[in-house]
Amino acid sequence: MNKKELLESVKKEVLSCKKCGLWKNKRNYVFGEGDPNSRIMFIGEAPGYNEDVQGRPFVGAAGKLLTFLIQNVLGVPREKVYITNVLKCRPPNNRDPMVDEVKACTPYLDRQIRIIKPRLIVTLGRHSAKYVLGKLGLKVSGITRVRGKVFEGEILGLKVKVLPTYHPAAALYNPGLKATLTSDFEKIKDVLKSKEREKGGLLSFI
Ligand code: URA
Ligand code: SF4
Repeated sequence: MNKKELLESVKKEVLSCKKCGLWKNKRNYVFGEGDPNSRIMFIGEAPGYNEDVQGRPFVGAAGKLLTFLIQNVLGVPREKVYITNVLKCRPPNNRDPMVDEVKACTPYLDRQIRIIKPRLIVTLGRHSAKYVLGKLGLKVSGITRVRGKVFEGEILGLKVKVLPTYHPAAALYNPGLKATLTSDFEKIKDVLKSKEREKGGLLSFI
């Protein structure tokens, strides 16, 4: 099976999942979408209202900002990267994910990571940073200490870089964060380009 088929088989499992209580109130599962061959994965927290209605990640206001940054700072169509969340069902009133929900759902995320084999994971917000950096043995107490830094190590048997940044929704509430988010996206470009330089390859970095 190729990556696309492997992801489809995980998605099929998610679409009938009842491993935590969140399936009861959701309208749609939000598995994730994008190019299975992308070298970069964006991982958010959980679906919000619009994502729950549409069954797609990052399609509301925060999603618009994320899409803008991907297309205008990275300069690639959104479809060329892979976007998903820690949780695949919307928590009621967008409350924070609970520990047991993260525990129940993240085996799906792990499988997505194993299939896609990204070179760079960009975590959006605290919960995603906590989960992904936790796999590198780091304890994340807050996003400010880690954001904008590049971490490197082995996750699920893959050598990968991790760049945590703010959740785009945070920049909607606090427009002062927008410039920081933009500079973190500039950094994404540098990280992927330097990978290409290591290989002596072209700058087709996504
Ligand atoms: N916030 C997230 O963390 N994920 C989405 O898909 C949308 C909003
Ligand atoms: Fe299953 Fe994840 Fe939805 Fe919980 S949040 S029901 S574990 S898909």
